Amino acid sequence: MARYTGPVCRLCRRERTKLFLKGERCYTIKCPVSDVGERRKRAFPPGEHGRDRMRQGSEYLVQLREKQKARRIYGVLEHQFHKLYEEATHQPGITGENLLRMLELRLDNVVFRSGWASSRSQARQFVRHGHVLVDGAKVTIPSYRVTAGARVTLAERAGSMILIRHNVDTIDRSVPAWLEVEEGRGALRVASLPEREHIDEPIREQLIVELYSK
Ligand code: SF4
Repeated sequence: MARYTGPVCRLCRRERTKLFLKGERCYTIKCPVSDVGERRKRAFPPGEHGRDRMRQGSEYLVQLREKQKARRIYGVLEHQFHKLYEEATHQPGITGENLLRMLELRLDNVVFRSGWASSRSQARQFVRHGHVLVDGAKVTIPSYRVTAGARVTLAERAGSMILIRHNVDTIDRSVPAWLEVEEGRGALRVASLPEREHIDEPIREQLIVELYSK
């Protein structure tokens, strides 16, 4: 399966904002776009001409960057993202919200939201390695879309993995209202489909819709 394998912090620097792609490191001063410490010096886009890109761009550029930011937050490649957009346009309701809802319902995102993984890329790895079950069946496809009422659990072995236990014990991230955590935090249920107010990512989805509908 195709995926981005290049430098990750570079993506945040390109978007000039923290996308929280690296788990714990994102909350330390090692983050190149951290607000504190020396690293703040690198809070400009990467590349030889990075500093030149600091000025305000055109309307198109603003829309493009918003789309890239959303793609990078959820770790979705362009082709897949565009397909989701097409699907969103055919659903009833607001296209931008439909798009965000489908991104939220990806299995890797649910694992990330549950607090079992420190980042979405770690969540993807857990799914690929067969550590996650949906309604009792192993699912190894990170883009698998969960439905309302689905029960997502950790596989028996995964529940005792040090990494997952460490994440559960240390990650201070609240589980969104559309997910219901069961006792012991080893299982959760998709209580309802996520509404826009449940999605706290800093994405202006209207700009993405404007970009694709040109
Ligand atoms: Fe790197 Fe995380 Fe900082 Fe982004 S937020 S630049 S991924 S450390």
